[in-house]
Amino acid sequence: ARKFFVGGNFKMNGTKESIKSIVKGLNEAQLDSNVEVVIAPPSLYLQLAQDQLSKANVEVSAQNVYDKPNGAYTGEISVAQLKDSGIKWTILGHSERRTILGESDEVVASKTKAALDGGLSVVWCCGESLEEREGGNTIAVIEKQLAALAAKISGDEWKKIVVAYEPIWAIGTGKVATVQQAQEVHAAIRKFLRANVSEAVADETRILYGGSVNGKNCKDLAKEADIDGFLVGGASLKPEFVEIINSNL
Ligand code: 13P
Repeated sequence: ARKFFVGGNFKMNGTKESIKSIVKGLNEAQLDSNVEVVIAPPSLYLQLAQDQLSKANVEVSAQNVYDKPNGAYTGEISVAQLKDSGIKWTILGHSERRTILGESDEVVASKTKAALDGGLSVVWCCGESLEEREGGNTIAVIEKQLAALAAKISGDEWKKIVVAYEPIWAIGTGKVATVQQAQEVHAAIRKFLRANVSEAVADETRILYGGSVNGKNCKDLAKEADIDGFLVGGASLKPEFVEIINSNL
């Protein structure tokens, strides 16, 4: 069975005070012990979150990392620097980095490879735009994103990847995918893994849904066979995040 996984992507939000308060909330909450939780604050606050966390099943994740080991890359952070700070996870390929910061499928795949090589686990994101969905291209877009990754990653390395399906039209819009829309794409991702990686990777890889997940809609989504958790934006900054972690209770 795949362990349920809930990630909180704080994006470019928060202050020292608010991050401390979110972590305190998690430390004091009753969290389902069968759920793996990661929170991803802005890089400036990774260490703070790490220092303040006292909950065993909650870990800290970066939101991005660079694929070069060190050197003249102004503004970037390396895998080794995250490891040096005790960080074990990074999100990669979020649609905001793909669209706003211009990261291609290949750049995302290369960063993922670098993160895995350096010993990080990765929440790897994919997802289609509204235009792509309306054009009937959803599965083709996801498969293209997955293919770029699969070309760089060997079978064993998939064990350290959690896939997050985040339809761009559902992110921050309050317009959550229907249970059927999400399940359909999750099943297609698993089918891709079965055909192009291995039976074991298809069975074992957690596939998260992200996009306007909240304390109310999480329960029905969590019941679907191929939905193994969530990647949460806005609601991860609120006490409601605990309800999402506890979707299965
Ligand atoms: P929202 O939950 O705010 O829609 O964001 C989803 C997301 O992008 C998480 O990475």
